[in-house]
Amino acid sequence: MQLVGIAKAAHGAPLLEAKRQVSYSHLATGKWINRVAPSRHSFDWSINPYRGCEMACQYCYARYTHEFMELREPDDFETRIFAKVWNASEFRRELLKIPVTQAIAIGTATDPYQHAERRYELTRRMLEVLATVSGRRFWITTKSDLPVRDLGLLQQVARRNVLYLNFTITTLDADLARGLEPKAPRPDLRLATLQALSSAGIRCGVMASPVLPGINDDEASLNQLAASAKASGAEWFGGGVLFLKSPTREVFFNYLEREHPHLARRYQNTYATSARPTRDYHQQIEQRFDAIRLANNLSRKATPYLPPDWEQGNQLSLAL
Ligand code: SF4
Repeated sequence: MQLVGIAKAAHGAPLLEAKRQVSYSHLATGKWINRVAPSRHSFDWSINPYRGCEMACQYCYARYTHEFMELREPDDFETRIFAKVWNASEFRRELLKIPVTQAIAIGTATDPYQHAERRYELTRRMLEVLATVSGRRFWITTKSDLPVRDLGLLQQVARRNVLYLNFTITTLDADLARGLEPKAPRPDLRLATLQALSSAGIRCGVMASPVLPGINDDEASLNQLAASAKASGAEWFGGGVLFLKSPTREVFFNYLEREHPHLARRYQNTYATSARPTRDYHQQIEQRFDAIRLANNLSRKATPYLPPDWEQGNQLSLAL
């Protein structure tokens, strides 16, 4: 097969290191900040410094993105990690071209604080650039405890820009989390990180995504998660229902057969003709989240605010 584009770049990518189970490679990137379809998202642009993610969540919807690189083994997404080749001036140039009114989300496909970040520090380098602009809106989504490392930088960014940190926590049950998200930090560590950041003035919330029918969707568990999120300083709480398409579908069905065999048939029926459960199920979950938010004094979304040194449209001068 003749490889082209991103597939060609991935197969020729110089190896940074091969660990026992995971390899890290350097991947050239043509673009750091990508436009998203505005009608489908609450943000306008996305940034993903890594391709693949070692946290290995069994439900991870982004697994299909490795197929763009012709990497199709079931575990390629979690074992063949690509760190984009950092270019500060190019990143700045792209950032400054984006209108200040448009929101930028970091970590829409893969986690920006995944394990590779401990050594390659791409997210940290991006934050160093973001800390030099003002009047912008940034979202970061993670299920890591690593953001504590960057607390000072996050505070700098948040002084002049609107900054929201979204922590994904699907369950407080450490055993369930270990099966679902084998290499992600424990839920209590994520909550402790949320607490450290919110105590330092960073606006944080929790998304219990994905909601998995019969696994993490019972009212008592979600309510307990919401109460813990609130106690740790979360402002908002929500969750989206599992979206299941190939190749995630096969990985997740294998997980079900191993860990919840009694649910396998139900999922096969539910997801037989659609990537989502029924409209009824969605409505029930929405009502459940509404009641839980009300009971725990949490909002559905991050509330708008202006940071202390907000100067929209008055960008600091940056060397290009
Ligand atoms: S942390 Fe996010 S990107 Fe990484 S495997 Fe889990 S769901 Fe996918």
